Amino acid sequence: MATNVTIAPYAATPAELIPAIASNTRATFRTNKTKSIPWRLTQLRKLYWAVTDYTPQLTAALLSDLHKTDYEATLTEIDWVRNDCLFMIQHLEKFAADEKLGSPHVPATFSVMSFRIRKDPLGAALIIGPYNYPVQIILSPLIGAIAAGCTAVMKPSEHTPACAMVLKELIETRLDKNAFAVVNGGIAETTKLMEERWDKVFFTGSTAVGKIIAKKAAETLTPVCLELGGRNPAFITKHANLQLAARRLMWGKTLCSGQVCMSQNYILVDSEVVDSFIEFLKVAYKEMFPNGAKASPDLARIVNKRHFLRIKKMLDDTKGKIVMGGQMDESELFIEPTAVVVSSKEDSMMAEESFGPVFSIYPVHSLDQAINLANSIDRTPLALFSFGNKKENERVLNEMTSGGATLNDAYFHGSCNTVPFGGVGESGSGSYRGQASFDCFTHRRTVATTPNWAESLIRVRYMPYQWKQLKF
Ligand code: NAD
Repeated sequence: MATNVTIAPYAATPAELIPAIASNTRATFRTNKTKSIPWRLTQLRKLYWAVTDYTPQLTAALLSDLHKTDYEATLTEIDWVRNDCLFMIQHLEKFAADEKLGSPHVPATFSVMSFRIRKDPLGAALIIGPYNYPVQIILSPLIGAIAAGCTAVMKPSEHTPACAMVLKELIETRLDKNAFAVVNGGIAETTKLMEERWDKVFFTGSTAVGKIIAKKAAETLTPVCLELGGRNPAFITKHANLQLAARRLMWGKTLCSGQVCMSQNYILVDSEVVDSFIEFLKVAYKEMFPNGAKASPDLARIVNKRHFLRIKKMLDDTKGKIVMGGQMDESELFIEPTAVVVSSKEDSMMAEESFGPVFSIYPVHSLDQAINLANSIDRTPLALFSFGNKKENERVLNEMTSGGATLNDAYFHGSCNTVPFGGVGESGSGSYRGQASFDCFTHRRTVATTPNWAESLIRVRYMPYQWKQLKF
């Protein structure tokens, strides 16, 4: 555990500084220096070493803000970002290279010309982050922005103040400070930032705030990438391996205390196997928290009192039956991993994204019923999980839409830092990670070049047309 580190007390960026910060990143972009590949590689290397050097501060901040253990902080935030940097450094030149277009994209009639796609940086980007992965979800989009050749201003969540202050110092002391800056604050500061002109806004957060951001960006037709939330279903058929399903979904609801956008919110379980599934869930709980979740050093806490009370209300108001967990302690912002058996989609446990270590188990008599129910709850969740045989899993994929999906596991499609990740419909638009992060901040600009020697072949296009009627 990190000790002896000092983290500056949280301070919001004075609102009057925001226009100058934004215009500085726009001006730096116009110098064209960020377009040089060596410059981008240098910034990525600097970021890698900054995250490495600041690991004690980041670990301490994650512990202070969310009670994340060293292990979880390293696995899901710090090493995640370092690996992201290494991947991008390794592949940047390939991603940034022009793509030559030939057959079948270019038909024979155009073959005297050459076509290519240049990968132009979009410009100055604004990256707005949520509280649950305060380090990863600021730095991972930043890696995409740097790689693409953009400048960027980042706005970390005010609900994770220690992380926000470490990120500010790390970015502003280690990277080119004319190209990259951090603005701290909440709604007022984000609103002020959104009044500025950006070339890309990358927002991660709730669907409700995503709508505010998208609406504001639409006024200037600024492109947005929206990484939002949703109510994610898991399906368990009678052909599932119940023991593995229970263990894996238990992990999916206890990492970061279930404050994960991709966690399952409810599990549709075939009623024939629901009792066994619940028993296996209890076994998994015992395996992971042998002395109980509260005594475990491994369970993160709920980020603040507002969210604690929101989750508590879901549990207090439920008409369902609590079959596992149920303990809460406001003084520690502790909520025990809790499963509730429900029988109505109007139940308080189902009505909103839980974003905590609590979930519903909803018994169903068929996969038809499960799919219809899930489609009526949220047509476009961020994720879905299906535990069945191959045919059943394919049916779920075919008959439901979601941002991403994992078969026979909790959110593994979102655990790999190099494969594209994003939502669909109400859970977001656009994707990032791996090459998708580069593409997210890039304009694919088609360039055609006509050689002078081709003039005699293509002069048919010139007016006057009256002697050139095409005959078919
Ligand atoms: P949030 O929407 O409350 O806040 C996100 C950011 O928006 C913060 O930086 C906040 O300061 C700012 N903000 C809040 N209200 C605003 C307003 N009215 N105007 C302008 N800016 C505003 O989200 P959160 O509570 O920090 O995070 C939880 C949500 O984020 C969940 O819904 C979760 O599913 C989602 N999430 C999605 C992903 C993903 O990759 N799809 C990842 C993490 C979290």
